[in-house]
Amino acid sequence: MRLENRIALITGAGRGIGRAIAEAYGREGAKVAVADLTLEAAQDTVAAIEQAGGTAMALAMDVTDEKAVDEGVAAIVDKWGGLDIALANAGIQHIDAIHKLSFADWSKVMSVHLDGAFLVTRAALNQMYASGGGTMLYMGSVHSLEASPLKAPYVAAKHGMLGLCRAVAKEGAEYGVRSNIICPGFVRTPLVDKQIPEQAKELGISEDEVISKVMLKNTVDGEFTTLEDVAELAVHLAAFPSAALTGQSIVVSHGWHMQ
Ligand code: NAD
Repeated sequence: MRLENRIALITGAGRGIGRAIAEAYGREGAKVAVADLTLEAAQDTVAAIEQAGGTAMALAMDVTDEKAVDEGVAAIVDKWGGLDIALANAGIQHIDAIHKLSFADWSKVMSVHLDGAFLVTRAALNQMYASGGGTMLYMGSVHSLEASPLKAPYVAAKHGMLGLCRAVAKEGAEYGVRSNIICPGFVRTPLVDKQIPEQAKELGISEDEVISKVMLKNTVDGEFTTLEDVAELAVHLAAFPSAALTGQSIVVSHGWHMQ
């Protein structure tokens, strides 16, 4: 097992990519704190981890709520005695052209990704600095590295998370903290399924064309990235044995955006 007895927090882990990573961490022997907006969503993932023989706890945590994040991290430390790995994964998408975008929609996307990543980082670093180190992970996107139309707040927020990841790598080094950002291409989750009809409407094309001509157009093989692909990378980054790998963005995307 690659993460035996490591204590991990994953936000937005009630479904989608966060859930897949939480289950993979559970299989690899980590104690997994599963955080999501509602306790029920988090409990669902916890049940799946426990059914597979793993150890997990559920947390209701809106990542934009400073108190909820601080109390959630404190609850993990109370229960298990520390925090070794924190993954800021919670995220939302909003499809709109910039000139039509409301300030409220812009702010909501920025807040979940950037305020959320900051609050989780601050709470986690306070634990990791006190205990001799740890691993910060961020769920970026290919959109941390390049832009697409109709996704301005998401693209801006994901670029911002890349900057935060790099700043944490620089500041965290002397405390034994490493920091990396995972940058997936398109993965079929509720977040992506919701935007297919929205993009079809905005662009005046069919849903099949959104998949082939927008989402997968720049991959080398026309394939979606899978939950398993992203979970494997997240295990690898958490298990990596030295600080040689820090401050990096790792793209997992079937070749969309080579760097
Ligand atoms: P999803 O919609 O399936 O899951 C997102 C989860 O985040 C949900 O459980 C939701 O309840 C939770 N969440 C939303 N707002 C929250 C908040 N304020 N506080 C706590 N939890 C909150 O989406 P997903 O596709 O699994 O996306 C997960 C992450 O991966 C996001 O950061 C997303 O931007 C990123 N990502 C997704 C793709 C993709 O193609 N699906 C590609 C690249 C990056």
